[in-house]
Amino acid sequence: MSGQGLIGAVEAGGTKFVLAVSTQQGEIMARTRMPTNTPAETWPAMRAFFAEASAQHGPIAAFGVASFGPIDIDPASPAYGTFTTTPKPGWSGARFQDVLAGFGAPIKVDTDVNGAAIGEWMAGAGQGCRTLAYTTIGTGVGTGVVRDGQSLMGISHFESGHIATPRDPSVDPFTGICPYHGDCLEGLSCGPAIERRWGTSLDQLGSEHVAIIAGYIAHLASTLVLLHMPDRLIFGGGVMKAPGLVEAVREATAAKLNGYVQHPRLDAGLERYIVTPGLGDDAGITGAIELGRQALLAR
Ligand code: ZN
Repeated sequence: MSGQGLIGAVEAGGTKFVLAVSTQQGEIMARTRMPTNTPAETWPAMRAFFAEASAQHGPIAAFGVASFGPIDIDPASPAYGTFTTTPKPGWSGARFQDVLAGFGAPIKVDTDVNGAAIGEWMAGAGQGCRTLAYTTIGTGVGTGVVRDGQSLMGISHFESGHIATPRDPSVDPFTGICPYHGDCLEGLSCGPAIERRWGTSLDQLGSEHVAIIAGYIAHLASTLVLLHMPDRLIFGGGVMKAPGLVEAVREATAAKLNGYVQHPRLDAGLERYIVTPGLGDDAGITGAIELGRQALLAR
């Protein structure tokens, strides 16, 4: 029944790495997590985990990596799999292929957001969608758009967090925290922007604060509808856990679209169209396993 060889999966986050070895059917044989230190510390620990898991369970036939960035995810680029301009000390120029080359297995590298999007498409709230847009509103803001299980990109991965968002200074005088744009979407609505503006997290604040953030997120939601016409929008990340936020995003998105897009997928009230994740913390590693499967199929 099963193909030969196992999948090595890496979910590389800014604070921790989650590593897993699974069958090609997705059954996890070994799993661990480790802090994201410098590559000098994290790379050997990662390699040692896969070497040990492989010795115990069998050869690894392919790797899937869903990583923090910025990172080059273009398979045609000479720098594919390399961290580019990340401010995290030691990581600029580090490359996954260099660490995992000893296993002789193909590697597919994508962003953490795209990995979570693929995971949700496979096994979470995005099942049954041909086109899915998954957005995380947390420490940062980013969107992965998946079409038939493949993440979309252009010359680089998408950067939805930095779209310009209309802001009414009489309602929200905060000028944002993005070092490049000030009050772009991320500059206004990521977790650190909310903390800076109101001194606490959104789940501790009232509905008038929730409504302000919901308006910014709805600007992205309606833009994603117009640009990509997805079957569904998923919004996850720490900020989205604030009570009432997803409901407010649905309402504000419907108001912005104002009936312009008519399709059975967009239900009245958008309760089935705009949803929260189904996999929670497992979306990233689930997506990384699927990326490994795609690397194997592409060989
Ligand atoms: Zn920005």
